[in-house]
Amino acid sequence: MAELSDLPLRDNLVGKTPYGAPQAAVPVSLNVNENTHPLPEAFIAEATEALAAALRNVNRYPDREFMGLREALAGYLGHGLTPERVWAANGSNEVLQQILQAFGGPGRTLMSFTPTYSMYPLLADGTDTGYIGVPRNEDYTVTPELVVSAIAEHKPDIVVLCAPNNPTGTPMSLETILAAYEAFDGILIADEAYKEFDTENETAIALLDGRHRLIVSRTMSKAFAFAGVRLGYLAADSAVVDALRLVRLPYHLSGLTQAAATTAVKHADAMLATVDEIRAQRDRLAAALTSLGYVVHDSGSNFLLVGGFANPVEVFERLRAQGILVRDLNIAGHVRITAGTAEETSAVIAAITEFGPAGTV
Ligand SMILES: *Cc1c(COP(=O)(O)O)cnc(C)c1O
Repeated sequence: MAELSDLPLRDNLVGKTPYGAPQAAVPVSLNVNENTHPLPEAFIAEATEALAAALRNVNRYPDREFMGLREALAGYLGHGLTPERVWAANGSNEVLQQILQAFGGPGRTLMSFTPTYSMYPLLADGTDTGYIGVPRNEDYTVTPELVVSAIAEHKPDIVVLCAPNNPTGTPMSLETILAAYEAFDGILIADEAYKEFDTENETAIALLDGRHRLIVSRTMSKAFAFAGVRLGYLAADSAVVDALRLVRLPYHLSGLTQAAATTAVKHADAMLATVDEIRAQRDRLAAALTSLGYVVHDSGSNFLLVGGFANPVEVFERLRAQGILVRDLNIAGHVRITAGTAEETSAVIAAITEFGPAGTV
């Protein structure tokens, strides 16, 4: 067998490691911010019929412009959006990749505020876009002042603001997003993967009118409990959608994906019915860990970044031995824990309580 180093790999991929959150079959899987609740049966029944109808047509290529799904998504997002201003791909990772293919590339840069979503630098590498990571404030916030000074210093072509931020959970105000937009002439992406969980801040979709360089990215992988289908989407000016059409692969969204996702959006209220419960479990987890002396960072999402561990690697291993997966993201003293069902949350609280007060393990 040859090694990777035997191959004429592109220079900017040499020495890089692929995205690799562990996928282990354990009873309590709280490491990749999925919605762990079961899907509504009424949706399953209708989606099964929609998938059967779609299967009868798979001898033909699917609708390249997936107008039915875009219409459903525009209706779900509201704010007067039309299907021409909505786009989708196989997960918001692919949406982000298409944005970098259209607006990044050799000689251009993507900037974001770290720690943040680990896929941003990987997507930059894959499209030969330079990546600039600017440290957040100590409390993980990004203020308008920070974003404006970082843009002035680094002059990026694209800025991505993760709002709320993964892996810290930190909410982001519309003031910061607006300040970023006005500070440069490039493409600004607000990554709102967790927006349905954020009750504090309005969506950046409210800023779209008259701002043709702003893109708001969303996903069905988190609140919608739809990670396995792979459906991410965005709202923007229709000119942005025209740009993405230049780089997308023809027929990139399968007929099965379109059928499942369109049905899910029609059932949005039922699909999102667990969001309040997940927030309640997140707050219960936060209260329990705070009372043990852990540092729980402010979260507008379905997960918590928790500090106060002596050895996150050992925490990860000991929890995994008990059938519980959490995420060690190489942030000193911290692990990230997704809010699950009441039972899953109870299991992780019991296991960490067993460790003893903060700093023991
Ligand atoms: C999970 C996540 C995504 C979504 O990825 P998909 O490809 O849609 O599953 C995007 N951005 C952030 C910040 C995320 O945490």
